[in-house]
Order: sequence, then C-alpha cells, then structure tokens
Amino acid sequence: MEPQEDCPFCRIEAKQTKSRILYEDEQVLAFEDIHPQAPVHVLIIPKKHIATLLEVGEGDASLMGRLVLVANRIAREKRVDRSGFRVVINCNRNGGQTVGHLHLHLLAGRRMGWPPG
Ligand code: AMP
Ligand code: ZN
Repeated sequence: MEPQEDCPFCRIEAKQTKSRILYEDEQVLAFEDIHPQAPVHVLIIPKKHIATLLEVGEGDASLMGRLVLVANRIAREKRVDRSGFRVVINCNRNGGQTVGHLHLHLLAGRRMGWPPG
C-alpha cells in the first residue's frame, strides 16, 4: 500500500517526523519507541504500509521474516540477546494496538511479566 499521509509511522519513514533510527534498509525501518516501556524498547516496521497483522498477505511472508531478523540484529547490538527479550505484535483494540501501521515491539533490559497485562 502507498504511504498514508495520516499514518504516524509512514511519516517517520518519510522523515516528516523525527525519530531515533537504529536500522534502515529498502524494506524495513527500526527506531526507538517514544514512550519506552522497558530500558530497551525498539519498534521494527515494514516500510510498506500494512495496517495490522491481519493485513499480512501471502506475498509478505519474506518481509515478515526480515522484520524478525532485524529484531534479532538489534537485540544483539543492544547486547540483550543472552539475557533475553520479548517481541510483541499488538493487533486491533483488545490486542492494544494504537498505531495502525504494523510494528514489532522489541522489549528488553528488565524481567518481563507473564501473562502480559
Ligand atoms: P501499539 O500500541 O502496539 O500500536 O504501539 C504503538 C507504539 O508506538 C507505542 O509504544 C508508542 O509509544 C509508539 N509511538 C507512537 N508514536 C511514536 C513516534 N512518533 N515515535 C516513536 N514511537 C512512537
Ligand atoms: Zn503507515
């Protein structure tokens, strides 16, 4: 889908909103969450506007894999790979999704609770 003018993460990708970018390639962008919920809180997004996890199609399978690879890469760079981390995708209201552009949360640097709130 085309970049959405009213989408906060499309605006970050277009550099119309400032962010602290940690990784970028042709398909993927990773940046620091503006309201971190843990010492490490990074968002990993596809540059392509995909609204929710439900909109991921057959043709996005390798893109989804790339998002995971970038999460792993950042976990290693931040040196939280051994201690551990959590990757979360919230979907729609009950899932806690507030921004309608697919994103993985990489959370680390503290012990995560289970079950999640
Ligand atoms: P979710 O609730 O799963 O949709 O997550 C959205 C996340 O985006 C939240 O953790 C917000 O803190 C974060 N967020 C919203 N706007 C920005 C922004 N401009 N830069 C960085 N993170 C943002
Ligand atoms: Zn978007």
